[in-house]
Amino acid sequence: MAKLGNPQETIQVLQKHDFHFQKKFGQNFLIDPRVLEKIVEAAEVTEDDFVLEIGPGIGTMTQYLCEHARQVLAVEIDSHLIPILQETLAEYDNVEVLHGDILKQDIRAIADRYNGGKPIKVVANLPYYITTPIIMELFESRVPLANVTVMVQKEVADRMKADPGTKEYGALSLAVQYYAKPYLAANVPPNCFMPRPNVGSAVIRLDCLARTPVEVQDEKLMFRLIRASFNQRRKTLQNGIANSPELSFTKEQVAEALETIGISPTVRGEKLSLQQFAALSDELNKSKER
Ligand code: SAM
Repeated sequence: MAKLGNPQETIQVLQKHDFHFQKKFGQNFLIDPRVLEKIVEAAEVTEDDFVLEIGPGIGTMTQYLCEHARQVLAVEIDSHLIPILQETLAEYDNVEVLHGDILKQDIRAIADRYNGGKPIKVVANLPYYITTPIIMELFESRVPLANVTVMVQKEVADRMKADPGTKEYGALSLAVQYYAKPYLAANVPPNCFMPRPNVGSAVIRLDCLARTPVEVQDEKLMFRLIRASFNQRRKTLQNGIANSPELSFTKEQVAEALETIGISPTVRGEKLSLQQFAALSDELNKSKER
């Protein structure tokens, strides 16, 4: 089987199998070898690594991963792609293809089985609407992860790595940066895919942190405060939190907590760092107990 990664090879494979793209599965296949090389390089895959690939498509990226990794497990939801993957990956003995929905897999069990419970690397080029939920699920369920390299919509990459005070900064920046350090590896224009998507994409690597960058007494409370602050972006932090249906603090309680940690009560959420949200959360936690 020839090495995939250019438009001619992809068209040939698709025609041979009479494959039809399914919109519901977000199928845009990569057709640019330079981007494929960039992804493998960004993911820092070595011959010691086990890699979980989510959404292999016809196996283009998978071939590159097999060349670099010790072992690859590729999870693909579309049954029409399974016979194609069997053919395009036939010459690799370090890959397994699992037919299924990644949202229904026990990824911790996969890490145990294929990597002795040690941190795994994840590479994914997925439909954009499920990428963020999958990443957050991986982080929140504390699956042992070394890094996660994903293709996302350019705007989503910008939001993940945004700093406080910028217009891209929001709940997603804080959620991602609580668990990982983001690194933008490449911008990928629509013409690198078949069919072409309507938006620009980017490859982002999230290096998972061994310890969270802040210690907070009640993680759930901190993330509720974060959501409340950004749900009502135009409101001051104290109004945003006091109005949140998820929380039951008064405006006065919030103002007092902000004052104690040395922040003006008229501040907007977009100015606060993760450290300041953690401090606010701990302070409000005290008033909850009083
Ligand atoms: N990795 C290939 C590439 O770069 O050419 C294909 C990328 S395409 C954007 C997304 C792939 O994810 C498709 O093959 C699609 O069928 C698969 N997919 C979509 N939802 C999935 C899910 N929930 N679980 C596993 N695979 C999924």
